[in-house]
Amino acid sequence: MSALDYKICNRCVMDNITDVFIHFDEKGNCNHCEDYLQRTSKLIYNSEISDEQWKHILDKVKSAGKNRKFDCIVGISGGVDSSYTAHLCKEYGLRPLLFHMDNGWDTKISVKNVATMVDKLGFEYDCQVLDWEAFREIQLAFLKSSIVDLEMPTDIAILSSIYKAAAKYGIKYIFSGGNLSSEAIMPLQMGYHMYKDIRLYRHIVKKYSKKALKTIPTVGIWGEFCYKFLKNIKTVYPLNYIPYDKDKAKQFLIEQYGWEDYGGKHHESKITAFWQSYVMPEKYKMDYRRTTLSAQICAGQISRAAALNEFSHKSYDEKLIDEDKKYIAKKFGISLDELEKYLSNPPKTYLDFPNNKELISFVYRTYNRIFTKKRI
Ligand SMILES: [Zn+2]
Repeated sequence: MSALDYKICNRCVMDNITDVFIHFDEKGNCNHCEDYLQRTSKLIYNSEISDEQWKHILDKVKSAGKNRKFDCIVGISGGVDSSYTAHLCKEYGLRPLLFHMDNGWDTKISVKNVATMVDKLGFEYDCQVLDWEAFREIQLAFLKSSIVDLEMPTDIAILSSIYKAAAKYGIKYIFSGGNLSSEAIMPLQMGYHMYKDIRLYRHIVKKYSKKALKTIPTVGIWGEFCYKFLKNIKTVYPLNYIPYDKDKAKQFLIEQYGWEDYGGKHHESKITAFWQSYVMPEKYKMDYRRTTLSAQICAGQISRAAALNEFSHKSYDEKLIDEDKKYIAKKFGISLDELEKYLSNPPKTYLDFPNNKELISFVYRTYNRIFTKKRI
């Protein structure tokens, strides 16, 4: 792309490199921040309305937990959002089960953070450790396929594991650290893994791996439907009901709990850090920071000038990349040359594979139309 063709939004920091499908209005504002301000801003914290909704949710959660061991289950990764969600349970007098899924890529800091939060909060804790050999084979298939969504197997396994744990313990509410104030801007071609499309998942594993699928927990849209409507397990996003500022939450966790900062977003996992901060901008030309910072600009948590300043340096440390590659190749059980070969294959997105995007979009749209007002 020539400098003349380059375009960045006047209001946020999304550009036509990170999102090739971006479009701009006559004022030079992009579809992402426009959508945030028109639609998403109504779903984030809104003073008394959100306070009232949050109180209503707490009442329902506590009522469902009556005569049970737990009120809710909180998936905890060691990152800011999930750790703060666990803290909120303490603040509001809930009795959660903290649950962690270990896919083999946890960093030392994230393991320490999970242990710190469990210890200081005094909540019960359960952990599912995935069969590494099986998970490795599946994630390696995604690496070989060259799709940008390398973390789709992780996301699907987390969802499946937490639903299974909720069902096992008779818990009716899953508390997620997902939040709109820092995650609402995400072009689909960057974050298709969030669709948890089992058709695409199976296609990639079948084509690029020879091992069976059954050893790793999976759940697709119909499985989720069963958990939601037959087992009546609901997911709540507490951070959307409070004035959540990720940077302030991080500072609070450090001071209050001795939680340790690990750098970028989702860098509690070694592979996620490598993928988002190095492979995505270098191979796919998608700078993950633009999505988070743009959402934070729209939420009024950072100025556009301060966000732009973040791009004065790369999202990864060039001196550490060779070491990271060696670690990742060794962990995958492949040679460094093989890893380099996969990384140099032409970039692909979900658009290059058979998928159920239209069906899943339809189901989500219909579900949101019916349930958005209820928000629980
Ligand atoms: Zn914009």
